[in-house]
Amino acid sequence: MSSAEHLELISHDSAPAHAREQLNLVIVGHVDHGKSTLVGRLLADSNSLPDGKLETIQGICRQQGKDFEYAFLLDALEEEQDQGITIDSARVFFKTDKRDVIIIDAPGHIEFLKNMISGAARAEAAILLIDAHEGVQENSRRHGYLLGMLGIRQVTVAVNKMDLVNYDQQVYDRIEAEYRAFLGTCGVIPRRFVPISAREGDNIASPGSAMSWYTGPTILETVDLFRKELPPENQPLRLPVQDIYKFNRDGDDRRIVAGRIEAGEVRVGDEVIFSPSGKRSRVASIEAFAAPQTEQAAAPRCVGLTLEQQIFIDRGEVISHVESAPRIATRFRANIFWMGHRPMVTDRWYTLKLATRRVEVRIADLLGVLDASELDGAQGGQQIGRHDVGEVVLETRKPVAFDLTHEFESTGRFVIVDEYDVVGGGIILDTVHDAVSEAREDAKRRDFEWVRGEVDAAARESRFGHRPALVLFTGDAGVGKALIARELERTLFLGGATCYLLDARNVFLSADRDTARLDKDELVRRYGEVAHLFMDAGHVVVSTSNTFGLADHQVIHSLVGTGATVLTVHVGDGPADRADLVLPAGARPAEAVREIGVLLRREKVLLGI
Ligand code: GDP
Repeated sequence: MSSAEHLELISHDSAPAHAREQLNLVIVGHVDHGKSTLVGRLLADSNSLPDGKLETIQGICRQQGKDFEYAFLLDALEEEQDQGITIDSARVFFKTDKRDVIIIDAPGHIEFLKNMISGAARAEAAILLIDAHEGVQENSRRHGYLLGMLGIRQVTVAVNKMDLVNYDQQVYDRIEAEYRAFLGTCGVIPRRFVPISAREGDNIASPGSAMSWYTGPTILETVDLFRKELPPENQPLRLPVQDIYKFNRDGDDRRIVAGRIEAGEVRVGDEVIFSPSGKRSRVASIEAFAAPQTEQAAAPRCVGLTLEQQIFIDRGEVISHVESAPRIATRFRANIFWMGHRPMVTDRWYTLKLATRRVEVRIADLLGVLDASELDGAQGGQQIGRHDVGEVVLETRKPVAFDLTHEFESTGRFVIVDEYDVVGGGIILDTVHDAVSEAREDAKRRDFEWVRGEVDAAARESRFGHRPALVLFTGDAGVGKALIARELERTLFLGGATCYLLDARNVFLSADRDTARLDKDELVRRYGEVAHLFMDAGHVVVSTSNTFGLADHQVIHSLVGTGATVLTVHVGDGPADRADLVLPAGARPAEAVREIGVLLRREKVLLGI
């Protein structure tokens, strides 16, 4: 597809204009604790019902000789929606002074979890109902756990049916103390507790007279106190790269970086950084087909950018401004909702899709599993079954750029793909720090200060016919690694590549001459830095060394730059699950080098040669 055709496909959207602020709210509580009554009350007491609705339903009740219930309001509205006679919105919402509040339907835990984790529905805040008469039940605990797991931080706890306990402050205080302590263990810090009677209307829209001992806000007031997330266009820029297109015209070697702005805005002249590669450039133009070039574009919108400095990046990188870049890691803590028929297991690699990036992923640590239908927590276990939620530390083979789900939606959630099926969805809760993240930070600081010459990476690539890469060999002593590495350097060189065999021993003899006192970490760091220099000069670096283990390789990878190509070739038996290629012990060097050549082409290191 030409760039013009592509841009035509992606240019048909623009930001919708919201007249009033909207807040997505979920109301959770055990059956019969008063959810529907509360919603009915909120609709009625906030004057959000169509004119005459309340009176009509009260009239029908009188005719039928039954007591009016506020819950009927909700049923009546739902019925109308089913018949297509909707009020002015397809969803139930009520109005406060400040905003329209949309009540997210949570028909069952599984649906709710699935919708929340997949992004189909997103609650920004929650009201959690507890029946004062029954007190804190097992289910109330489960709901707290559920909110914590979904990362919903803004919660009001409504202690309902206060009329049934004579509006007794002591009962309320006891429930508050007990439940507050429990929520703390789930990582949920409730904004407020409010004693209410949904049926009588106490503390819903107005205080009423029965609980003068309570001086806090009403339910409606707490809803207005929830912090609204910034609208997408005002958030920091997040533009996941969908594709790179080359201009087709003769002699024009510019490229268009195409993608959808998920958050924030971008302007011509902005300095941008690509994550996880850490490469930078400046925006030269913002292209849109069948529309004049624009100086500025904001979320949500598809755009094509051209850059002042040509850099090589692939689909999957996230463009941001330099000072507000996403996090980068190979390990992070997440909650996964599993939908696959086969359980998710700890010793298997899956594919993680986050925004436009796909990387291999596996469970590094399974911290806990929760049966979503029962909301029954269980610690330990080796797998996450269908409809379970697992709290996990995930480990990706390559670094990923992401945000925490409560910071930025679109780059804070992911799906897991097994073969061709989406089998799970998840939200990212936290980064996990380790030696690798430290090395990555070091590299980031170094690259920030790095003095660049006049010859850039693109010029080197077009001269050499290949991109820089580091080929690391692993395997036990005596399996023939060194022979293959030497053969690889020789063959690459004869084929026209600019390459260098960098043995750790040579770094030891040179940059490490002061080494008697150096610890292993420092040796690894220096090796990584020397390799980085060669790669900066455009070389394919071939490395054999028995001194470095798997963990060191990850550190080296971070030091040479997360965007750099580092390939691991494992020779012989032993743990090889991180290797890009596995060769048998004693493999014939010429044969082995042919296979490595295929890998180098596949990974787009060798281009014209
Ligand atoms: P849901 O299952 O959570 O939606 O609960 P409902 O709203 O249907 O309420 C269940 C029952 O509790 C109904 O009979 C309501 O009338 C009653 N109820 C709800 N709120 C109150 C309240 O504040 N006081 C009293 N006494 N009963 C209530």
